Amino acid sequence: MMNSPLLVGSLLEHAEKFFPKKKVISQTHDKIHQFSYREIGKRTRRLMSVLERLGIQKGDRVGTLAWNHHRHLEVYFAAPGTGAVLHTINFRLSPEHIIYIINHAEDKVLFIDEDVLPLVEKIKDHLHSVEAFIIMTDKDTLPDSNLSPLYSYEELLHSGDPSHSFHRELNENDPAGMCYTSATTGKPKGVIYSHRGIVLHCLALGLADTAALSESDIVMPVVPQFHVNAWGAPFASTWFGATQVMPGPRFTPKRLAKFIETYQVTVSLGVPTIWLGLAQELLQNQYDTSSLRGVLCGGAAAPLGLIQTFEEKLGVPFYHAYGATETTPLVTYSRLKSYQQNITKEEKLQQRARQGILVPGLEMKIIDDKGDIPWDDEAMGELLVRGPWIADGYYKDDRSKEAFSDGWFHTGDVVKVDEEGTIQIVDRTNDLIKSGGEWISSVDLENQLMAHEAVYEASVVAVPNVQWQERPIACVVLKEGKEVTKEELLDYLKPHFAKFWLPDDIIFMDEIPKTSVGKFLKRALREKLKEHYQS
Ligand code: ADP
Repeated sequence: MMNSPLLVGSLLEHAEKFFPKKKVISQTHDKIHQFSYREIGKRTRRLMSVLERLGIQKGDRVGTLAWNHHRHLEVYFAAPGTGAVLHTINFRLSPEHIIYIINHAEDKVLFIDEDVLPLVEKIKDHLHSVEAFIIMTDKDTLPDSNLSPLYSYEELLHSGDPSHSFHRELNENDPAGMCYTSATTGKPKGVIYSHRGIVLHCLALGLADTAALSESDIVMPVVPQFHVNAWGAPFASTWFGATQVMPGPRFTPKRLAKFIETYQVTVSLGVPTIWLGLAQELLQNQYDTSSLRGVLCGGAAAPLGLIQTFEEKLGVPFYHAYGATETTPLVTYSRLKSYQQNITKEEKLQQRARQGILVPGLEMKIIDDKGDIPWDDEAMGELLVRGPWIADGYYKDDRSKEAFSDGWFHTGDVVKVDEEGTIQIVDRTNDLIKSGGEWISSVDLENQLMAHEAVYEASVVAVPNVQWQERPIACVVLKEGKEVTKEELLDYLKPHFAKFWLPDDIIFMDEIPKTSVGKFLKRALREKLKEHYQS
């Protein structure tokens, strides 16, 4: 067979040729834009010529600090299209981590959204490698800023060459993208995505038994473009010629609901907190969401109650998927098998809440201290994965050895697996609660709590305990206008769990601290509770 390289630039070239009229709809700070793939192609080519003029060479890192919009999509193709590396930066991290990330990656230029500008101005003196700052503004005039040299995106594009070619002399194993994990402990760790890994991952997103992205879809990625390339959706949607709806800066559940209705969105992707917020909005106000053929949820466990709300109350199919920054990210996808269609409604829901089965193309292994665990849905072990879109190390980082040994990526996730091969994430290795020598899954308790009609969010963490080593404490946020007591919640949990699993206490809060990508920040909760229980 021919050994044709799989290159990111060719994804957009395909859309230019075969889907030139299909659209990207994009919200920026003050307006909504609509561009066809023909126009996006020309703008990307202009941008590639500009990058080369700015001195960007093969292998150089091109940083972005931006929301989900068409300009960010253009950099997604322009950077790897010139042979450079698209480095998406999570601007919600602490300034200290952002400085570390930019210096560690040695970004040569930074593309910055207008509202992220003040942050970059504050840290600019600590940045050692950046040679140009480009503001992704709608206006031709630049905002006042102490960054230098500072360019306007649109002005630069205007001066670019719309017929510039994609770099042809690339190896498919060359780096195309890069993303740092938000790291709950220690410094962020960089992951490099190769051209080949990104392209093969797109194919995985198009499979009928995974997300089945296709030309007929109208895809709205809500998961940030700075987080694992918005799970690869912008790459795959472009390649397949799907319409894309980019929700832009500082979106609200209202905007998401409005966009679904107005643009007839068929598929949307995001973390559970996004869907919790959207569900509230859809239940409170009237919207037409009949175009939605599915919402795709990942990044953290999707609570059973949330799946139920979408499927039963809102009539929207809800799909649960699992992955990580190191895995590009798709690893498992939850769908019922053809012969499982006759199981009861309750069993179906339980199945859907699991993280699903391995996507074709990858391999997995689940091990404990003694080796492979049985697929009996009881034994627990750490999930290991390998495959063409799984990273093989962290970028220039000594910590690679722990997570990548013997040719496998050690996910740090503890799972159970049933005889169908369907995995269920029990916990992060660090979040499992060990009480009197027995394991308690914080995720199971959270899911059950969040299935209660008065509970909006719940996070369960361990606190140190002299007698039992650790005991679970639940932190709960109630839905607006709802009331329930601690005793009532404990009574509600009782039939579902062994007695020793029941939380020692339930604390009501206004808000649960979250990571920059919307996951529960358990480290912060543990710290907070430790003080509470010591005092
Ligand atoms: P971070 O930067 O926070 O590590 P990642 O997206 O890399 O962000 O996080 C990956 C981790 O998120 C996984 O190892 C797993 O613990 C958790 N995760 C992802 N998807 C799911 C899911 N569907 N259910 C439960 N946990 C999930």
